[in-house]
Amino acid sequence: MQLLPGLYVVGGSLMGLTGSQVKGPFDECNVYALDLGSEIVLIDAGVGDSWPQILEIMNQWGLGSRKISTVLITHPHYDHAQGAHFLQKIGIKLIAHKYTAEVMAKADERCCGFLYHREFTPVSVDCILEDNQQFSVGQLAVQSIYLPGHTLGCTGFLVSWMGRRLLFSGDVIGTLGYGHFGWNGSIDFDKKLYLQSLLKLLKIDFDVMLPGHGLGTYKNPRERVEVSVNEALMTWR
Ligand SMILES: [Zn+2]
Repeated sequence: MQLLPGLYVVGGSLMGLTGSQVKGPFDECNVYALDLGSEIVLIDAGVGDSWPQILEIMNQWGLGSRKISTVLITHPHYDHAQGAHFLQKIGIKLIAHKYTAEVMAKADERCCGFLYHREFTPVSVDCILEDNQQFSVGQLAVQSIYLPGHTLGCTGFLVSWMGRRLLFSGDVIGTLGYGHFGWNGSIDFDKKLYLQSLLKLLKIDFDVMLPGHGLGTYKNPRERVEVSVNEALMTWR
C-alpha cells in the first residue's frame, strides 16, 4: 500500500500483506519500497518465501518495471534478513551495519531462525556500514543510525523525502503499533545499550517513523520514542 508519494509498504504480516497475519506480527517484517524513479530501494528483505507476492504488490503499484537496486537491512533477525540471500541472487545489493553483516555471514542463533524452525541462509553483505554513516543510493542520501539493544546490529535509516525526514526504525520502537520496545528474547539483546539507543533516538529529529512491524507514525513520532524511554527507565532496573 502507498504511504506517501513514492513510498510504499509492499510486505508485512501485521499489515496483512504477506506471511500470516494469524501467526502474528513477527511472521514477516514490513518491507518498504522507495521509488527513486530510475531505481527502487527496499528497506528490509523479509523472509524470502513471500517474494512472488511482494512482486505482485509492487506490480499493482506500477513499480514492477523499475529495477530494484538495493536493500537496506535494519538487523539480522530471520523475519527481516532471511530474504537477503534470495535478493542478492537476483542482483540486488545488500547494505547493512558491520555487526548485522557478520551475523548474516555466520548465520548463527543471533539470526533467530530457531523461532521459525528454519535455518538462516548465510549471505555476504555487499556494502558494510560503520556505526553512523552517511551514504548514497543513486540520488538518495541516507544516514545510518546505530541503535543497538534489540540486537547488537540494529540500525535505523534516515532519509529526506518530499520535505520530510523519514526514519526506518526497524524493531527499536513500538513494533506493535504504539510505544514500547522490540522483542527482548534475542541472544544478543542488551538493555543497557537499548536504553542508550532510545535516548539517542530522542535527540534525532525526524517527522515520520516507519517501524519494522505495524503502522508508521506521521505526526509527532517523538511521542512514541518518549513512551519507550519512559517505560525503559521505569522497568529496566
Ligand atoms: Zn527483530
